[in-house]
Amino acid sequence: MPELPEVETTVRGLERVLLGRRIARVEARRPDLRRALPPDLGQRLTGATVTSLSRRAKYGLIATDRGDTLVFHLGMSGRWRIDPAEIGAHDHLLIDTADGCRLALNDPRRFGSLDLVATAEIAAWPLIAALGPEPFDLTPRDLKARLAGRTAAIKLMLLDQGIVAGLGNIYVCEALYRAGINPRRAARKVSLERLRRLVPAIQAVLEEAIAAGGSSLRDFAGPDGELGYFSKTFAVYGREGEPCACGGTVKRIVQGGRSTFYCPACQR
Ligand code: ZN
Repeated sequence: MPELPEVETTVRGLERVLLGRRIARVEARRPDLRRALPPDLGQRLTGATVTSLSRRAKYGLIATDRGDTLVFHLGMSGRWRIDPAEIGAHDHLLIDTADGCRLALNDPRRFGSLDLVATAEIAAWPLIAALGPEPFDLTPRDLKARLAGRTAAIKLMLLDQGIVAGLGNIYVCEALYRAGINPRRAARKVSLERLRRLVPAIQAVLEEAIAAGGSSLRDFAGPDGELGYFSKTFAVYGREGEPCACGGTVKRIVQGGRSTFYCPACQR
């Protein structure tokens, strides 16, 4: 599933071909993804010029000079293709720029979404207003306050988008490993000292993944078709039964219905 680094990589890839460009043509090839597409999507985007691209959590934001922002979420399997050789059944939205670039939003499983929101109201848009801070804006003290009184496992709290936005399973597993924190530890019992290791670990794992172009789980390819390389460097994720660098063995447990990978020897 595309996670924050993949979305950041995607936004940077799209920026190269969209920023400052005029949208000449928009074609919605089906009426819905996870939910209905805005019926006036084509009308509001056609002729508009893209003024900025950014990311909030796992949402990509494409703002135009008409005061609209196209908000995209890649769901489980979404990706943007740039100048695809041919258009396939899973290319659900096409955008052509006036300077001859074609973008196709490809999403075989259709868990993604597309919305048009007034740019001035983005922060108040319910799906964005509900999000906690960006991982790169987080401080250990802020996280400590957010975890106060929370008895759920630290792993589950870090996946809660209202605590910190945009963290997915892979990066939470890897960050907890680097910080030496047992994923089952009650969130409220993780000391500030440990959070001072965890927050930089979260940021480092994400930064490395962004630099590598996102991870390369089966569905994901970057906007220009390049696969990322970060998955080759996972320390625990997907490595059940394999040796940890400490000599211990990586274990898999299930928390909240999802796999957690960790090393019981070095994560306490
Ligand atoms: Zn270990």
